[in-house]
Amino acid sequence: MTVSISPESIETRLFMNGEFVESSNNKTFELLSPKTLKLVAKVHEASAEDTNRAVESAKAAQPAWAALRTEERGFYLKKLADLIRQHDNEFATLEALSMGIPVSEYWQAAQCAKTFDHYSEAGYSNQGTTSLNTPGFINMTLRQPYGVVAAIIPWNYPIVFFASKVAPALTVGNTVVLKSSEKAPLTLQSIRLAGLIKQIGFPPGVINVITGFGNISGAILSHHMDVRVLSFTGSTRTGRLIQEAASKSNLKVVFLELGGKSPAIVFDDADLEAAVSDTQSSIQSNSGQTCMAISRVYVQDTVARKFTALFKAKFSSSAVLGDPMHPDTNHGPQADQVQHENISRYIEIGKQESTMILGSDSPPSNDSGYFIKPTIFADAPEDARIMQEEIFGPVVVINTFTTEEEVLQKANNSEFGLYASVYTKDLDRAMRFVRGLEAGTVGVNCTSPTTAKDMPFGGYKGSGIGREGWVCSMDNFLETKTVLIKTG
Ligand code: ADP
Repeated sequence: MTVSISPESIETRLFMNGEFVESSNNKTFELLSPKTLKLVAKVHEASAEDTNRAVESAKAAQPAWAALRTEERGFYLKKLADLIRQHDNEFATLEALSMGIPVSEYWQAAQCAKTFDHYSEAGYSNQGTTSLNTPGFINMTLRQPYGVVAAIIPWNYPIVFFASKVAPALTVGNTVVLKSSEKAPLTLQSIRLAGLIKQIGFPPGVINVITGFGNISGAILSHHMDVRVLSFTGSTRTGRLIQEAASKSNLKVVFLELGGKSPAIVFDDADLEAAVSDTQSSIQSNSGQTCMAISRVYVQDTVARKFTALFKAKFSSSAVLGDPMHPDTNHGPQADQVQHENISRYIEIGKQESTMILGSDSPPSNDSGYFIKPTIFADAPEDARIMQEEIFGPVVVINTFTTEEEVLQKANNSEFGLYASVYTKDLDRAMRFVRGLEAGTVGVNCTSPTTAKDMPFGGYKGSGIGREGWVCSMDNFLETKTVLIKTG
């Protein structure tokens, strides 16, 4: 269900030290609806001075926040989870307006609330170890917060990333500066999340939410000497810049969750209908704007014709493109003009490199929104750009293979390694692929976006550094101190 939100009621200021403030140089940028191409809001852009002030606020607030009892910090997180749930419809509406996620597909606020719920009670599992292995000593480790954590997030699932980074960092006593993406700042910047943080009365400075572009606020956070951990989700290109900035500044700890070019391998003994349904939903999810989307499908040649026909029929019939606010729409526009142009360019490249079997013959127009029709290419050479580069749209390549050795080599022939799937009923074969696939997550007879909350998520190779998940994320935000106590 949508709610009516008037443009004037959308809060677009920066949130720091417990208050909404205008950007120090009064600079704003325009956020356009990807459906109507009309102005949704003018958003305050964090300047260098604002970004530094946000870090200062977080630094000042950290000792007192860390000194609270674990359940006191948990209490704030729990309250936030409850309020997020109550405002689900507003979040859905804001995200549909600003980045085009269909309201019918909106599950992000519910997941964000669950994550805050989880971490509201997880704090006591922060424990060190003890050792009596050195004669004359009792030794132990303590796990302590780093201090100020920065989070830089993308636009495709803003409040999901907000929760997965902010909640574990806070529960163990860090404070946070989060920079949202300039493409989708509203759910975070607006009264709907920062406003809820204010309403609950989090101590000022514990959570600071700013927005702006990478080359000012993002770069300042990456270089900042008082930021001790930076957790980033976004493109591989930006991930490289952040790691470089960290090594040029204070060697802050960096976690990078980057892009993907995920393969699914379908053998002829698999449940073909299930494999079609899963892989098609994977590439259509969020209009293909998902880092773990299956964008390369390898089908055994003996069933390739059948698989491709089923996939094409499903992809062309199940995607209902339209107004993201309409309850029947399940496939919204791409997030903005830049994304639309990038994908359109890749589609033209794909037409030169291989055979298009579903899609638009003419280059996509943007007269009625940044829509891209479901697109399938077949038989692309392994070194084609559409096989090697992340397109981040509803564009999939279906290639064929004959042998296990051949397809494993092809699936791994990528600088990315986020997610990979194998469909087969042969358990031994499945296990050979589980071992051989170079990916942070391997699905057997299932595929992305299937994940498990308690399992680590992250990339092999160029898809990232480090892992996130309900069990491992708290660890990302804790230093380890060894304490040696001489007992005489
Ligand atoms: P996308 O192209 O999908 O928007 P990006 O990696 O460019 O992915 O953006 C993800 C996030 O990284 C956004 O919040 C963006 O503002 C930020 N960002 C972009 N460039 C930089 C940079 N040089 N340093 C730090 N953050 C950046």
